Amino acid sequence: MKREEIVSAVRSQPEVDVLVVGGGINGIGTFRDLALQGVSVLLVDKADFCSGASAASSRMAHGGIRYLENGEFRLVRESLAERNRLLKNAPHAVFPLLFTIPVYGWWSGILNAPLKFLGLLKRPSERGVVVIKLGMTLYDWFTRANRMTGTHALLSRQDALQKHSHLNPNIVMAATYYDALMPQAERIGLEIVLDAEAESPQAHALNYVTVTGADGESVQLQDQVSDQTFAVRPKVVVNASGAWIDFVNSAMHRPTRFIGGTKGSHIVVDHPALLNTLNGSAIFFENKDGRMCIFAPFEDKVIIGATDIRIENPDEAVCTDEEIDYFLGFTEHVLPGLKVDRSHIVYHFCGVRPLPSTDVDFAGLISRDHSIQVSEPNEVTRFPIYSLVGGKWTTFRAFAEQTTDRVLVFLGRARRGGTADLPIGGGEAYPQSDDQRQAWIETAAADTSLPTERVTTLFERYGTRAAEVARYTASGADRPLASAPMYSEREIMFLAEHEKVVHLEDVIVRRSILGLLGQVNGDVLQQTAAALGGVLGWTPEQVEAEIGQTSALLQQWHGVPAERLQLRAPDAHA
Ligand SMILES: Cc1cc2nc3c(=O)[nH]c(=O)nc-3n(C[C@H](O)[C@H](O)[C@H](O)COP(=O)(O)OP(=O)(O)OC[C@H]3O[C@@H](n4cnc5c(N)ncnc54)[C@H](O)[C@@H]3O)c2cc1C
Repeated sequence: MKREEIVSAVRSQPEVDVLVVGGGINGIGTFRDLALQGVSVLLVDKADFCSGASAASSRMAHGGIRYLENGEFRLVRESLAERNRLLKNAPHAVFPLLFTIPVYGWWSGILNAPLKFLGLLKRPSERGVVVIKLGMTLYDWFTRANRMTGTHALLSRQDALQKHSHLNPNIVMAATYYDALMPQAERIGLEIVLDAEAESPQAHALNYVTVTGADGESVQLQDQVSDQTFAVRPKVVVNASGAWIDFVNSAMHRPTRFIGGTKGSHIVVDHPALLNTLNGSAIFFENKDGRMCIFAPFEDKVIIGATDIRIENPDEAVCTDEEIDYFLGFTEHVLPGLKVDRSHIVYHFCGVRPLPSTDVDFAGLISRDHSIQVSEPNEVTRFPIYSLVGGKWTTFRAFAEQTTDRVLVFLGRARRGGTADLPIGGGEAYPQSDDQRQAWIETAAADTSLPTERVTTLFERYGTRAAEVARYTASGADRPLASAPMYSEREIMFLAEHEKVVHLEDVIVRRSILGLLGQVNGDVLQQTAAALGGVLGWTPEQVEAEIGQTSALLQQWHGVPAERLQLRAPDAHA
């Protein structure tokens, strides 16, 4: 159904079993699970899907090796199981990645865990070889029955320095282990939304719809596109608005103090020597202040992050100059001799972790586990509100399952099926071997008469959904975007037609990785807006307004210089 059809269906039938507020990964996961149970469910987000913390993660599907030190064995075990499920269910979008940890001492950090247990640890001290070896052994042990990646290893100082040319020579060893990378995390979220709607005619998802209030049995919604307000009458509200949970509960006149969010920023740098030093793996390391930070390869760029700073208002979270100084400072320490400076930064992003409210001093020690906080019905709101506090990207499915189980008990309904083995989007019927993948690509190329290289690109981007994208792009005159030829005009039109695109920015920074890779310039904005406008019926004034808004967003929130966003080739879209 098109967006306007969903809005009018909801307006004419406002009763719904569950309203999920927040289309980040936790809200989306819950939406899908409820849809599968045949529950009528509406998901709304005040912005685009996966535009909050779910767009700002380090893109790791990981067990969280450092949580072992906090004694959070249950969380690590669950995260590793979920990481493996992501690798299996979304093989087109989640890939095993080798991590290298440079280690500077042998025995240091051995007291972190007992001190934490005794409540005496204010800030963890540097972890040495023994602690890291112990952690990695446990990590491998947790996944022994269902191994989806290689196991850990220790590298001698000499081997590590040979493999990673600029690594700090003061290391005594390096350790390597596997986790996974989700380069286009936002696309995974979107595909789950589409899967859920395809699964159930009673499941609808609307981006750019804000919860503004509640009264008795009703929740007020404001459509950001038409500026109209309307109401729904849910039996249960799942508040999955992440760092905004307390704001949403207050808007519904049920004030809470569940969240103590911390913001985290990343920068994306264009630095071939740094990419070369990573040599295909991520470097995960401990900075002098006890924070674990990362250099991760991302196509031809490197992502560097992240900070962990308390913040009150998530709408103000942006990567600051001080955070950039922090990143450049630790790069100098971990990879001395590699000159990385501001001129290499092509993009930055920031988001707020929806962590539980706590008085722990050091943000890195706040648990990354999740919980469901229940506000029982009362005279103000006649429905219960289940607030989803915490949770990592990696664990969204398990969190959603636990939430769905609670909701089903409340509704008196039985679970029909689970999500543990459910393929996600283009992970459906995914060819398993290299030969099968090649055969798949060749068949799709023959069916559509598209060149094999083009179908390969689409397959790498969309998994088996590439068949649909290829058919669409082949069914009319197409051409590559002049300044970003790895995307084509009809591919952008496909996204507009099938992927709930409302604004130009949805495509530039979430449906595609054009923004993240720093590949957006004035021409790309112009050509993409024109392609979208053709499908979405934008007037020339709307096209200009969309370009202006996205350009402002890229400058203000992602550090893209205004000069780069000027139109450089006026005939690029002629
Ligand atoms: C810097 C950083 C690095 C991270 N790295 C990793 C990692 O590598 N791996 C990992 O597993 N996890 C990681 N995480 C954690 C993970 O990203 C988050 O825990 C997860 O994305 C939270 O998802 P969410 O759905 O709860 O919240 P969000 O994604 O923030 O979604 C909440 C949504 O609610 C919407 N909303 C707010 N108010 C309203 C309203 N009034 N009406 C309607 N909608 C509303 C917002 O627009 C938003 O889209 C990281 C987080 C950060 C910040």
